[in-house]
Amino acid sequence: MPHSIAIHGHFYQPPRENPFTGEMPRERGAEPYHDYNEKITVECYQPNAEAGNFDRISFNIGPTLINWLAQYQPRTYARIVQADRVYQQTRGAGNAIAQSAHHTILPLARRRDKITQIAWGISSFRFRFQRQPRGLWLPEMAVDLPTLQILSEHGLSFTILSEEQVRGDLRMGSGPYRVRLPDGGYFAVFVRDRFLSNQLSFDMAHIADGRKWLEWNLRARNRLALIATDGETFGHHHRDGVRLLSDLLQPDAAGYEVVALTEYLRTHPPTIEIEVNERTAWSCSHGLARWDTGCGCTPGDSGWKPVLRSALDLLADEIDAIYQYETRRLLANPWRLIEHYIDVVLGKIQATTLVREMAAGSLTGAQLSRVAQLAQAQLHRQRMFSSCGWFFEQLDRPEPRYVVAQAMRAIQLVKQATEIDLGPNFHDALCAARCGPAPRPIGDPTIRTAADLYDEWKTKNYT
Ligand SMILES: [Zn+2]
Repeated sequence: MPHSIAIHGHFYQPPRENPFTGEMPRERGAEPYHDYNEKITVECYQPNAEAGNFDRISFNIGPTLINWLAQYQPRTYARIVQADRVYQQTRGAGNAIAQSAHHTILPLARRRDKITQIAWGISSFRFRFQRQPRGLWLPEMAVDLPTLQILSEHGLSFTILSEEQVRGDLRMGSGPYRVRLPDGGYFAVFVRDRFLSNQLSFDMAHIADGRKWLEWNLRARNRLALIATDGETFGHHHRDGVRLLSDLLQPDAAGYEVVALTEYLRTHPPTIEIEVNERTAWSCSHGLARWDTGCGCTPGDSGWKPVLRSALDLLADEIDAIYQYETRRLLANPWRLIEHYIDVVLGKIQATTLVREMAAGSLTGAQLSRVAQLAQAQLHRQRMFSSCGWFFEQLDRPEPRYVVAQAMRAIQLVKQATEIDLGPNFHDALCAARCGPAPRPIGDPTIRTAADLYDEWKTKNYT
């Protein structure tokens, strides 16, 4: 029996659009392109689509990125969607899987936010690929059992974790394996081959012949081997990556067969049970502190990270309390509106029409638009937990600026709807999030605390 190999690409870019205008800023370093999304499209998304690589890999594309592709790169977008459709038609299961909506670290999120992120990710997938997803990519592979339980309750069957995030009998290679859920049920987990994934991601320059490299390495592996890495590895991080990937995926490769995960799970139901190391991630196997209190993986002083997170947590509580209070007599179930609000983001329905459908009785025009504003505030409140905000060591980067701006947009909408201004307290809370001193080689000297990021947006007259 030939060895099986699955190559999974996680395609994603940190969102950077201005929440007040919806526009992507011109980005330094992306020249001659307007921004990095454009640059990476030319280097990676488009050539991989044209080379037919999406036809054979397993992949997920972040909902925010695929939304951008649909809008600005319609041909590449259409080619990618077609790849999944053809795979589905010829093999009985598509090769795309879903991703939760905003790259939130789900184990750090409260239960309600986990549900929203997962429900929105599934709705986005269904809108793009016109079918129900079977698997879901967890941002940073950050995992805990309550998150897997919610995935299962939403009709999903599997996710991907890295070798160092699980323990138990791994003799079936990349699996899939069974993980026992809190309610007694099971969820399937594919286990990423760390060695092969890392070698392809970080050492591609030393792989002269991809097929030989893979055939050689597969000799010592059992059944399925799963390589999972950032999709941008192929063409953006490594110029030669598109060609190498095409080569690895050639159907006439004698030594192995290329499979996609959903398809493989159907024919290889998991039998061995393993355990998950909860609150770990593929980028940080020791825990989730990188996105919370800070960890040694980023140099310098991470003291700003927990302060920024708790300021946003507090703000989220206030926004939720106002939302529930204001909608208490107007909506039958305020959280049901939020679960469906992704349809507004996707352009499927007008916000006020959706509110009317979810209303407990007939609402006035003013009530409809007020509830719609508060629901839109919930969208920005979700976006302010994008994990990219905490990923790097520096506070004065586009990603922390982005999460602060999303918070400010949510505050602005709440104020427009209710005249309650959550801004001053939020600003005060941000004052304690201080930039560390060194190492900040490209640091901006005018940014000393997260409150300076707030003031920066304010001076641009957005609020
Ligand atoms: Zn770490």
